[in-house]
Amino acid sequence: MMHCPFCKTSAHSRSSRYLSDSVKHRYYQCQNVLCSATFRSMESVESIIRQPVASDEPDDDFIQAEMDKEPKQRPSATQ
Ligand SMILES: [Zn+2]
Repeated sequence: MMHCPFCKTSAHSRSSRYLSDSVKHRYYQCQNVLCSATFRSMESVESIIRQPVASDEPDDDFIQAEMDKEPKQRPSATQ
């Protein structure tokens, strides 16, 4: 949510469009009927606070077996 740059009323996001994986245009409409301005903002990933958890294989047989059951790691059926 952003405030309208003209009347400072809160504006609703109506749509958005990615320009790249980390940059997005967002289109707003002012909720004040006497203003009704529309405008666009730009959002971007500015910094990474914490990296994703490392995906190394766990040092635990049970956890490794559970991970092997994941559908994405299951070999395709050949029968
Ligand atoms: Zn406005």
